[in-house]
Amino acid sequence: MPAETRLFLCRSDNYGVLLHDPDSGATASIDAPEAAPIEAALKATGWKLTDILVTHHHADHTDGIIPLKEKYKCRVVAPAAEASKIPAVDETVREGDKVNIGSLSTNVIETPGHTLGHIAYWFHADKLAFVGDTLFSIGCGRVIEGTPEQMWHSLVKLRELPEDTEIYCGHEYTAANIKFARTIEPNNKALAAREAQAKQELARSEPTIPVTIGEEKKANPFLRADISDVAAGIGMAGRAAAEVFAEIRARKNKF
Ligand code: ZN
Ligand code: FE
Repeated sequence: MPAETRLFLCRSDNYGVLLHDPDSGATASIDAPEAAPIEAALKATGWKLTDILVTHHHADHTDGIIPLKEKYKCRVVAPAAEASKIPAVDETVREGDKVNIGSLSTNVIETPGHTLGHIAYWFHADKLAFVGDTLFSIGCGRVIEGTPEQMWHSLVKLRELPEDTEIYCGHEYTAANIKFARTIEPNNKALAAREAQAKQELARSEPTIPVTIGEEKKANPFLRADISDVAAGIGMAGRAAAEVFAEIRARKNKF
């Protein structure tokens, strides 16, 4: 049977998400921003937590690990390069490693930039990817530990996933991201359509994710730094994609 998901807000703007395998009953929490809303989601679904899949070491993705581990004795899977900064890790993973959640299978994709050890989890058979703070809808994470060039290459890796892959990201930042993206590509029709759609979703207090990679490729300026019109639009015609990306990211930081 296909995977089931449950998406909910944690803290102020973090997303919590549970991934459930109906065949085995296994259930993973992607990151653990905060224990209480994750426990509430488990209660509402009747699912039992078996695993936590951690994308990176920041507190707004790991604060819930210890209380959840104590209560559910779940396995904690975390990026090898950041395991020393993440509590209660049982298993470390690197690029290309496979992790099973019951009968569901995920591939680990290393996406350094936001943090140096950041990873994403791609469930190819289920067409789902959990990308943490690397890719947001119409945005991307701040480049805190890595270089803009690293972040660009990480985003290109995610961009290469099949177009119908549904993306779950770590935060609800879509409205602010769209506002900024319009300054980079004011004439992008896919972006205008995304703006109208997101406005409706937010007005109904609904999440703006998941969103497919195919949709993001058309409207997210951080995935479009190698498109000549995008570079030309910010006065960087002919420059390397990583430089164009770095400029867009720098503008977003000041926006
Ligand atoms: Zn983060
Ligand atoms: Fe975060």
